[in-house]
Amino acid sequence: MCNSIFRFFILFITFLPFNIHAREIALTFDDAPTPDSALMTGNERTQKLISALKQAQIPDAMFFVKADYINSQTSARLKQYTDAGFHLANHSFTHQSANQLDINAYAVDVYKAHLALKPFNNVLNYHRFPYLHYGKDLSDINQLQKLLIELGYKDGYVTIDNFDWYISALITKAAEEKKPINYEKARDFYVNSLYTSIEFYDGIARKSLKRSPRHVLLLHENDAAALFVGDLIQHLRNKGWKIISPQQAYKDPIARNFPQVSFHKQGRVAAIANSKGIPEAELRHPSENEDYLNQAFVAARIVEIK
Ligand SMILES: [Zn+2]
Repeated sequence: MCNSIFRFFILFITFLPFNIHAREIALTFDDAPTPDSALMTGNERTQKLISALKQAQIPDAMFFVKADYINSQTSARLKQYTDAGFHLANHSFTHQSANQLDINAYAVDVYKAHLALKPFNNVLNYHRFPYLHYGKDLSDINQLQKLLIELGYKDGYVTIDNFDWYISALITKAAEEKKPINYEKARDFYVNSLYTSIEFYDGIARKSLKRSPRHVLLLHENDAAALFVGDLIQHLRNKGWKIISPQQAYKDPIARNFPQVSFHKQGRVAAIANSKGIPEAELRHPSENEDYLNQAFVAARIVEIK
């Protein structure tokens, strides 16, 4: 009897942190609908993503649309996402940097995307800045925020920045060059790189906010996501994370805390930490760097040299 109570106690202690402090994260995919690549057509990419997300039974995901990619073919792909129950949002029309464009020209570009998204169902009024560039200085940033609110938009911020786009580009480039790819190693590289970024920004949050907020993960509608997002979700769940919908994540109090700093390009958690005096250099993970990833990619032997 005593022994079984003791075992129950040990089990309770073991799983306590995961059950009570399940960390929460939502998945968002930028730049949809991306063009065909050497690895797969855009249609195949959409099919793979929908099937992986459905199989993992996640509650929702948001696709931030680069609206000048929309044409008669690609609009069918966006419709497939919404038919599957996922949501679309605004990632501008031409994907220009708000740091370089005049603020009115930028707002017009957002509005063009707004019009292009009108025919679709399941569109949410969130806007995500390309490159996470919010404007060239704090005055522009605040004016643009005002303009976006006037257009009816909320900030589609991320809390976890990373270089998933570059990892995907390295894999696709190997395919273009007809080099043999070890997909198991590529999967581990993608999952581990992203998980490191997630823990990195959650660590910053726990230090500067004293809690783990509902996170928003930046991903892209790219080949690596199509191949490995299911593995990433599984890994997150194994580590005690819960996948929530982006709409749920944007209910976190940090959604109402727009930090008065010009540093936004590593996401909302980093911007809040920066507003509390943490220097920019400490708010970017070393893997958010092309040279770092080039070397790590070679070291991981993802491309098999005969
Ligand atoms: Zn983008």
